[in-house]
Amino acid sequence: MTQTDLRRIFDLQYQASRAQIDVPLLVRRERLLRVQKLLDEHGPVLAAAVQADFGIRSSRLTEVAELLVLRNQLRHTLRHLPRWSRRQRVRTPLMLMPGRGWIERQPLGVVGVIAPWNYPVQLALGPAITALAAGNRVMLKPSELTPHTSAQLAALVSQFFAPEEFAVIQGDVSVATQFSGLPFDHLLFTGSTAVGRRVALAAAAHLTPTTLELGGKSPCIIAPGCDLRAAALKIAHGKLLNAGQTCIAPDYVLLPRGQEAAFAQAFRSAALRLFPRFAGNPDYAAVLNRRHLARLRQMLRQAQSLGAHVEWMEEAGGLHDADALAQGDAVARQMPPALVFNATSQMQLMQEEIFGPILPVISYDRPDDVIAALGAGSRPLALYWFGDDEKLRDAVLARTVSGGVCVNDTLLHFAHDNLPFGGVGESGWGAYHSEQGFVRMSHQKAVFVQSRWSLAPLLYPPYGARFDRLMDMVRRWL
Ligand code: NAD
Repeated sequence: MTQTDLRRIFDLQYQASRAQIDVPLLVRRERLLRVQKLLDEHGPVLAAAVQADFGIRSSRLTEVAELLVLRNQLRHTLRHLPRWSRRQRVRTPLMLMPGRGWIERQPLGVVGVIAPWNYPVQLALGPAITALAAGNRVMLKPSELTPHTSAQLAALVSQFFAPEEFAVIQGDVSVATQFSGLPFDHLLFTGSTAVGRRVALAAAAHLTPTTLELGGKSPCIIAPGCDLRAAALKIAHGKLLNAGQTCIAPDYVLLPRGQEAAFAQAFRSAALRLFPRFAGNPDYAAVLNRRHLARLRQMLRQAQSLGAHVEWMEEAGGLHDADALAQGDAVARQMPPALVFNATSQMQLMQEEIFGPILPVISYDRPDDVIAALGAGSRPLALYWFGDDEKLRDAVLARTVSGGVCVNDTLLHFAHDNLPFGGVGESGWGAYHSEQGFVRMSHQKAVFVQSRWSLAPLLYPPYGARFDRLMDMVRRWL
């Protein structure tokens, strides 16, 4: 796609958005129903495309973690759309009575969506659904690292939508860079913190507001006295879903000192319960490509060279099979999970988001130290807390800041219809999902309607004794 094509589609959408500012509820509903139809009729095709991009990624995983999430989002949005999009009445302050005020939620216009590769259907269509519900036009740039999925999305969206309603732009990083330079009315980016920074800078040139859904290191704290077996199963599921390539996967575990062996055993049996084997198991996703695998292996090598102890959940097997990798065999990219003990802040795996099936386990002596350290550090996308001590839990909630929190489980705060989803600080800004997402993609226009009985003119100049008496009264009211 050339820059001229990109601009042509943008202009088409821009003009259409200005020609029809008031997008009726019926039109919005009908657009959402088309997305629903697209998923109903072509969900399996999309799942097959994801499988082709990863080499190994179960269509059932795509069904539960992508298509089901989208169907649920559509159901929830369709149900609440009439309430979300109607005028929001607000109480009028005494001084402005008997006037009336309300908030008019209007479409912003053209919304750009830049999506990553890890859940390439859900993270592309999810923001698009919210933007369409709010009456916007959508241009979507899916990841170049999942070319089959991106091509399917482009073909299906053009089959169900006119380009001035919803269009998919395929292309590499240079296209993505040009895309982020378009004067959108809003740009929602999901991806890494490093690229998010560049996107925010590009958008700032046009004063385009952004929502940045970024990554980071999401900690998982195990409280003293916690049921380790139950916690390990939830952590293993959250970490190993999509082989750790999940933005809200637990990045590392904080564990009461002395419980290392018990946790390792509990994690091993939980991991093997979910995946009796890793290499060759169709339920266990491959690491997306060789570059990502090499990055993960390098992280582990560096940690080992600095004194960390690595415990594999399965013999490294395919991981070392250079021939298989060279032949492009996806089994060689099914990296078995590894626990890492004695990790330190000097190690790469404690400095950057892991985004793979490696789980450092850091021991702590006092929960208070952990809470203080997390409160002082950079703000993660998710924080997980396992334990029954509610007082301690509330201390963590009060003294740390993270995009979201899930207590005694992992990932599921993402799936809660009425909770906003987003990061804070390094993990992003702005949230979507729920009514908050709808508001994010709308302009909240303040409207005040004056009454003919208004007393406001009593405060107009010329000022004098009457004005002073009135101001005395007003001051007493306030
Ligand atoms: P990435 O930042 O490399 O790429 C994301 C998208 O940005 C891709 O579509 C890419 O084409 C585009 N892009 C690349 N360079 C660009 C540029 N200079 N200007 C504009 N666009 C550009 O991320 P990724 O590797 O695809 O995804 C992994 C990252 O995404 C992880 O950090 C993960 O935590 C994060 N993530 C966050 C969420 C969330 O909801 N917060 C969800 C999934 C993934």
